[in-house]
Amino acid sequence: MIVILEPGIDKSGPDYTAVMDYLANLSGIQVRVHEETGAQQVLTELYLVGDTKGLKDVEISALPGVERVVRVSQEYRVLGRHKDDNRSSHFEYNGVTFSQNNLNIFAGLCAVDNPSHVEQMMKTLQDHGQVTTRMGAYKPRTSPYAFQGHGAECLPYVFELAGKYGIKVIAMEVTSDQHVHEIQQALEQTGHPTGVMLQIGTRNTQNFELLKAVGRQQEMPVLLKRGFGITLEESLNAAEYLASEGNRKVVFGLRGMKTNMGDPHRNFVDFAHVPVVKRLTRMPVCVDPSHSVGSREASPDGIMDVFHVTAQGIIAGANMVLVDFHPAPAKALVDGPQALLLSELPYFLEDCRIAREAYEARVKNMQRIRPA
Ligand code: PEP
Ligand code: MN
Repeated sequence: MIVILEPGIDKSGPDYTAVMDYLANLSGIQVRVHEETGAQQVLTELYLVGDTKGLKDVEISALPGVERVVRVSQEYRVLGRHKDDNRSSHFEYNGVTFSQNNLNIFAGLCAVDNPSHVEQMMKTLQDHGQVTTRMGAYKPRTSPYAFQGHGAECLPYVFELAGKYGIKVIAMEVTSDQHVHEIQQALEQTGHPTGVMLQIGTRNTQNFELLKAVGRQQEMPVLLKRGFGITLEESLNAAEYLASEGNRKVVFGLRGMKTNMGDPHRNFVDFAHVPVVKRLTRMPVCVDPSHSVGSREASPDGIMDVFHVTAQGIIAGANMVLVDFHPAPAKALVDGPQALLLSELPYFLEDCRIAREAYEARVKNMQRIRPA
């Protein structure tokens, strides 16, 4: 059960004390307080954990300071959608809105290789009005002998260049708690010229200790990639780990499933699950066409598969696109063969715009038979 308190409630005032006293007297029920700091006010939600079946909703709703009570099913308590649940499906970070109702494109390098490539990428993004990107500093690789990413060493120049070119959020994978600290430290040292969205990669979707550590920090949002060999339900539960530790600024990323059934794509594209995740949870949904497709192959219509599946994700309502670009793919240290060229960025953005417009037209069309 979630007890939603009135917005901006004073935690030292009598209403808050009365609610907490009431809840403290319920036997076998633990209360977890979650605060969401928005642009205008702080929202406080109380999560009641334990056997809540016998609790009296009407009595709790009537307590001073309580706005309403939401009964949640066992699944995805914090991030899920529940009956009569109108909690928000968006959050803000560093001036960027992440929502189930909008679209952000994170085009960038799969892996940071050198300052010149980072700068060329960032400048091209700025030239085309983009304020978000992807830049891997820590790369989990199949082979221990493959390039592992420049790690903490590259963070200062990546952040400074992001600031120089007006980039507000960089999606960056972390594979350990230590990486989170290194990112926090580098942001601090460089004076916060940009923001970071911590990415949990598909190989770590069920690394529960990593999820708990990343979930405990509430400053940076998280992009959780779906595990490539587990069920959707298992991956959604992984996202819930982040939220249950306190961080609910989570975007869920589809990036394809590992099976030969998807050949010749690198992974079996799972973007049909975009609307499913939006229905089951309040998370914005990201698609990663680069790691799904894994090549620059095009169909006879001249459109590359990476463009095709991006459009398929967007026309199904995706809210974020994570996509590999590189100034010189032949020189890329990771995933060069799937990278798009900087000169292709405006055409990629235009294709995204066309698909988004089609999605919005589809929503309007459907509202005529099923008013929202
Ligand atoms: C990535 O986005 O760089 C990446 C490694 O993705 P995934 O975890 O989906 O393989
Ligand atoms: Mn990659």
